[in-house]
Amino acid sequence: MRTPISVGNWKMHATNAEAEQLAESLAGLSEVDGVTTVVAPGFLQLARVAERLRSSGIEMAGQNMHFAATGAFTGEVSPRQLAEVASWVILGHSERRRYFCENDAALKSKIEAARVHGLHSILAIGERAEERQAGHTQVVLQRQLWGALEGLDIPEGFVVAYEPVWAIGSGMPATGEQAQDAAALIRAVLAELQGDAVATSARILYGGSVKAENIAEFAAQPDLDGALVGGASLDAEQFLAITRAIAGAKRA
Ligand code: PEP
Repeated sequence: MRTPISVGNWKMHATNAEAEQLAESLAGLSEVDGVTTVVAPGFLQLARVAERLRSSGIEMAGQNMHFAATGAFTGEVSPRQLAEVASWVILGHSERRRYFCENDAALKSKIEAARVHGLHSILAIGERAEERQAGHTQVVLQRQLWGALEGLDIPEGFVVAYEPVWAIGSGMPATGEQAQDAAALIRAVLAELQGDAVATSARILYGGSVKAENIAEFAAQPDLDGALVGGASLDAEQFLAITRAIAGAKRA
């Protein structure tokens, strides 16, 4: 039995006042049972959002982090610092890979550092449009998983988000079938890499233009255990509707 997860990635969108208002709206809506709910505000907003959501049951995530516990890395946030305000961290988001040259070797170090500091990783992977068109989706997902996880000690319940790059922020989500095919592949690769217990307990999320109107298609897929939500997570009603739909589908 896998506990489903709903993750909201606020990216670089909210000021302090906007983040507090969003947190207030989320806290004011009733908690959703049977699903782990996580939000990832910007680093500067993490502490105040955590404070607002303290008794809500909603958990906090960083959107990235450095792998070193401490050191001379100007502008970075360490796992030791992040663990003071969050229990989760999103790693390998395609925007990090594309704009900040995040590579598999760095990701591997970050995933290991997260584990050491008691943070749960959400490893994001996904193919670009031209890779899908060329029929390379499976190879890309395999390469990203091997590159980030080979040789690591991955805990049961580990979270992987399948986020096709072409679906992120485009308003053009994958189909349920495409997402299920990718999730089944991810589970199979996890079994090769980490064994059956890790593979069957892993939580696999879909991300890419998820909305309250389309979440049912993803939540109905047997290998999907929730969603990583960008734009729609900036609207408290949308995010709660998505979270409720995930809980309802996975309870059924
Ligand atoms: C994301 O940034 O991870 C994401 C899925 O964004 P959106 O939901 O806006 O496509």
